[in-house]
Amino acid sequence: MSTTTAPPPLGTPIVQPIHHSAAYAFETLADARAVFAQRAGGFTYARTGNPNVAALEAEIARRERGVGAVAASSGQAAVALALLTLTGPARDAHAVVSSRIYGGTVDLLTDSLADTGLEVTFADPRVPQQWEDAVRDGTRVFFLETIANPLTELPELEAIARIAHRHGAVVLVDNTVATPQLCTPGEHGADFVVHSATKYLAGHGGPLGGLLVATGRFDPADDAARWPWLTEAHHRWGGRSPVEVFGAQKAVLGVARCKYLNDLGPCLGATAAHEILQGTATLDVRVLRQSATAAALAAVLVDHPAVERVHHPSLAEGRQHELYAEGGYRGGGGLLSFEVRGTAADAETVVNGLQLIRLAANIGDVRTLVAHPAGMTHCRLTPEQFRASGITERTLRLSVGLEDPAELTADLLRALARLAPAAAVPSAEAPATQAPARPREPVTAAAG
Ligand SMILES: *Cc1c(COP(=O)(O)O)cnc(C)c1O
Repeated sequence: MSTTTAPPPLGTPIVQPIHHSAAYAFETLADARAVFAQRAGGFTYARTGNPNVAALEAEIARRERGVGAVAASSGQAAVALALLTLTGPARDAHAVVSSRIYGGTVDLLTDSLADTGLEVTFADPRVPQQWEDAVRDGTRVFFLETIANPLTELPELEAIARIAHRHGAVVLVDNTVATPQLCTPGEHGADFVVHSATKYLAGHGGPLGGLLVATGRFDPADDAARWPWLTEAHHRWGGRSPVEVFGAQKAVLGVARCKYLNDLGPCLGATAAHEILQGTATLDVRVLRQSATAAALAAVLVDHPAVERVHHPSLAEGRQHELYAEGGYRGGGGLLSFEVRGTAADAETVVNGLQLIRLAANIGDVRTLVAHPAGMTHCRLTPEQFRASGITERTLRLSVGLEDPAELTADLLRALARLAPAAAVPSAEAPATQAPARPREPVTAAAG
């Protein structure tokens, strides 16, 4: 018997089509009832899920070696979903949070979520004792970043995670700057990982998005009385508990999606999910190249007389260098900061002198961007938070893109030459404000 082997009329796409549909149809009311009551899996309405969003969630969960993920409309939304799910219903909710954390996270914690009763103590991610000292009965969450934005400090993640777990708190890690290409925090004590997918995952400065990933370590049933909203039966879950409905490892994801994402509505759109997933296909090559270029630029800046200090994991010394090895980092990342020597006005002169490198508050783009954290991303910090952040009025942050490293070097040297003209091209004749710069080979893509 011969069979017909004609291709399907529309062909078979290699790239997943964009499922631009708000709602999903059911064959029977019985099928609809089962999915709505969370007795069966499936899409109902795109606020809580869609095939493009589900594909992105599966890919990021896989890269983070987690058990599942929930996507949201932005990194801020993902962080908010995580914190609401982990602390929202607790009357005594308290979080210990890194003092070196993204400015938007500080606003969320100390203003919008403070309105809900959440209390926060900030602690230095390099000093585990500060985290131990900050713990109270109500502490549910420790929150820190793998590579801090903007000063690129590496945290004492494993020591801090041990403290959290000893006190029955969960460890939430923002892995936006490191990306799963450079570091997988779940292998170093993190219970949950959040991402601003807007940055390196999407990679091209277009869509906003965020993700919350469960690493599978946290089981609320281990200390059921501490997490009653996850372990006790409730009308919302059909008279069962989230642990029963979603399973112990995914109870937090289930509540984040089916309660907070559903009720508050910060869902990721199908088109944005599609674009971010396309971006992740090149994540590894982008991040490796950006790490190498950032290390090469850091090496140029560290020798420059108009630069007082450079922050990049490739320059880490002492304990920071050990943490780089202990954390299993596979590169220093594309974020780099430096302190301009002189005054705030000198830093401004450098920023305004850059031509190829654009001034914008974003990271992870294929284009290199500069930001002035004190005047931009971190401008709402209180004087005390500002001091604890380590940022100054002379701190400039670079998010290194994919341009020719030699052109980026030239742009930086030209802008810095407005302060120290004789030092524009590093040479043995550089002024002696610092040890004379060594002559160096032109920076190439393979450098670092
Ligand atoms: C940008 C950023 C966020 C917030 O993400 P959005 O997508 O801008 O909402 C959170 N954490 C870090 C480290 C970020 O860089």
